[in-house]
Amino acid sequence: MSPLPYLRLTGITKTYGGFTALKSVSLDVRRGEFLCFLGPSGCGKTTLLRVIAGLDPQTEGRVELDGRDVSRLPPSARDYGIVFQSYALFPNLSVHGNVAYGLKLKRDAERARVEELLAMVGLPGSGAKFPGQLSGGQQQRVALARALAPAPGLLLLDEPLSALDARVRLHLRRQIRDLHQRLGITTIMVTHDQEEALTMADRIVVMNNGVIDQVGTPDDIYRRPASRFVADFVGAMNMLPGVVAETGRVRLGGLDLECEADAVPGAAVTVCLRPEDVQVRAPAWVNRLDAVIETMEFLGPFHRARLAVEPLGEQRLTADLSANLVRDLDLGAGRRLPVSLPRERLRVFEAAGA
Ligand code: ATP
Repeated sequence: MSPLPYLRLTGITKTYGGFTALKSVSLDVRRGEFLCFLGPSGCGKTTLLRVIAGLDPQTEGRVELDGRDVSRLPPSARDYGIVFQSYALFPNLSVHGNVAYGLKLKRDAERARVEELLAMVGLPGSGAKFPGQLSGGQQQRVALARALAPAPGLLLLDEPLSALDARVRLHLRRQIRDLHQRLGITTIMVTHDQEEALTMADRIVVMNNGVIDQVGTPDDIYRRPASRFVADFVGAMNMLPGVVAETGRVRLGGLDLECEADAVPGAAVTVCLRPEDVQVRAPAWVNRLDAVIETMEFLGPFHRARLAVEPLGEQRLTADLSANLVRDLDLGAGRRLPVSLPRERLRVFEAAGA
């Protein structure tokens, strides 16, 4: 028996006038997990977070938190802390005042609790400062301390790192992850940054157009995308248009590839393959193609090559080749080389509606 989910969403629909932002979304969130809502701008991830928070109530559907139906309860009656992209600190209150805002403790206990929280977010001793004296990253850490102050059961983060510069973002990413590990608090973070989701989440909820396309671990989402949209949205991917020739074979331009395709013969499909899965030194030459390296881009541990393959016409294949391989084989632009597209790494999606 799996334990009851900490948060359960059932049939959540949200409409704004004639526009449907969420279409009957259902989701179970486990106690203690770190979940990311990932998707392009406008897919509904912030709306879903605001429904959970009670800030923007759903048009239809149910929200249950720790076994309680909170669907119609105001935000204050739900047990969560929230952090927004814009920090949203009170500028006229000190850091101490901001963090203590939701606390109802006696003076000494409050002082101790605020200091404990500030130490936890890496800002010990800064209670007397004002938000205006802090950097963006520091303000966001104060916002995090404020959200955690009443020890809520759920932490909601709405693009908390988007407004920060790259270095601070990386640092805070690790800090939020560490905090989560230490406190074990069920956490939901909205992001449009796939790298953020892949590095931070226990599970990722990929949203598109008001629906959930896939829920899975970062490895699932990356290795086993459930839809053409997820395959295209997360990570670099070759998206090769083709037609099912017969079961188990797909015709791509002038090539016939062996792959696992369920679609009926004649169906238009997209064959997906990660650039790092294009094999140059293949143990078995399945789906062997003769390619010519057109360009090569140095990216540190690997080179990203654009490959021309004659039967594919204008379509180019992207291959990530490790720096060692490039050195060993002395690869460079203009070089001809055989490559293999391993059958088990090819994912095939029907192109219909895409
Ligand atoms: P972003 O990363 O751009 O915030 P998102 O996935 O979080 O994207 P939402 O903010 O959830 O997207 O918005 C989903 C859709 O609902 C969008 O098309 C948006 O224009 C629409 N929407 C959101 N809030 C409102 C509102 N108050 N009134 C009308 N439409 C809204």
